[in-house]
Amino acid sequence: MKPFAYERATAPEAAATRVTDTADAMYLAGGTNLVDLMKLGVAEPTLLVDITGLPYDSIEHRADGSVLIGSLVSNSVLSGDRGIRRRFPAVAEAVLAGASGQLRTRATTGGNLLQRTRCVYFQDVTKACNKREPGSGCSALEGSHRDLAVLGTSDACVATHPSDMAVPMAALDAVVHLRRAGGDTRSVPLTDFYLLPGDTPERETVLEAGELITGVELPPPPAGAAMCYRKVRDRWSYAFALVSVAAVAATGPDGTLSEIRLALGGVAPLPWRARRAEEQLAGRRPTEEALRSAARAEFASARPLPRNAFKIDLAVDLITATVLELVGGEGR
Ligand SMILES: Cc1cc2nc3c(=O)[nH]c(=O)nc-3n(C[C@H](O)[C@H](O)[C@H](O)COP(=O)(O)OP(=O)(O)OC[C@H]3O[C@@H](n4cnc5c(N)ncnc54)[C@H](O)[C@@H]3O)c2cc1C
Ligand code: SF4
Repeated sequence: MKPFAYERATAPEAAATRVTDTADAMYLAGGTNLVDLMKLGVAEPTLLVDITGLPYDSIEHRADGSVLIGSLVSNSVLSGDRGIRRRFPAVAEAVLAGASGQLRTRATTGGNLLQRTRCVYFQDVTKACNKREPGSGCSALEGSHRDLAVLGTSDACVATHPSDMAVPMAALDAVVHLRRAGGDTRSVPLTDFYLLPGDTPERETVLEAGELITGVELPPPPAGAAMCYRKVRDRWSYAFALVSVAAVAATGPDGTLSEIRLALGGVAPLPWRARRAEEQLAGRRPTEEALRSAARAEFASARPLPRNAFKIDLAVDLITATVLELVGGEGR
């Protein structure tokens, strides 16, 4: 590991100024991803600014039904929060489906959203990887890509985004709150926060240098809707998603879908909001046939590689089963 300096920030402005003004400085939250990448030589910060002492560690449930989750709220606190479990159960389920108890105690909300891909070539500095070293090539195209993306990919990169929590947050129209040095703030919908790889896979989000995530806001959940998160993985625990889905759904008195929101994990470089499927299902009866057809339409633009095409059928099955589970199979 390369030598680096360490500082503990006590105020947001001091932290943001230090990271903005110091070349190759990075924020350190729980460190469960960043420190691993430093050990592997993938991340080589000159300075780590520890932000765990900043005042972003609370969950604020508001009277209008929205909630503001501080960026330093740990994954354990988030998944155990009563209001989250009761009103945003898909978020709690997604967090609990990730990592391990020990890791979740340390890992934070902001860090989870910014964790890097688990593509094995990204983590191996001896291999070509456009995301780690722009212009070097993509070893996954001809190599191990079974776990990688089928939607939103480019010739430069086919990595997936690994976060579970980001998937229900995308379905719930979450908004990410940001702060720059100098005190300017801005808010970005989570679905606009992440970037597709295109020719610049090294750029994964709209974050500017030194910008700090201060929190994530979830608007009030749609009235009367049920929601859940389902994750398919190789092992029951301690494994990233092959495919996952967050679904939010409600049916009206006539049995048609009055609300349907879907987001997918494990299939794209970002938490993938399945808008095409949503459009096809809105106002329809949630029959198995309608769900399968809509799910398949979502993958019309997929570009599978030889060893990850199975993800499409898996996702179609998972979307169908999850929505039927949520709305009680009404209309079948
Ligand atoms: C063995 C293992 C299994 C795992 N399994 C899963 C899984 O199944 N699902 C899943 O979702 N995750 C999984 N994880 C990932 C884990 O959840 C993340 O490592 C964790 O959420 C990252 O949070 P952190 O606070 O430790 O981030 P850090 O490692 O401290 O930071 C990550 C990145 O975010 C930046 N950063 C952190 N906070 C902020 C902020 N507020 N503003 C701006 N930048 C910031 C840092 O500079 C760094 O670049 C796993 C991790 C491990 C080690
Ligand atoms: S898929 Fe992306 S992260 Fe993986 S080797 Fe290719 S460029 Fe690197």
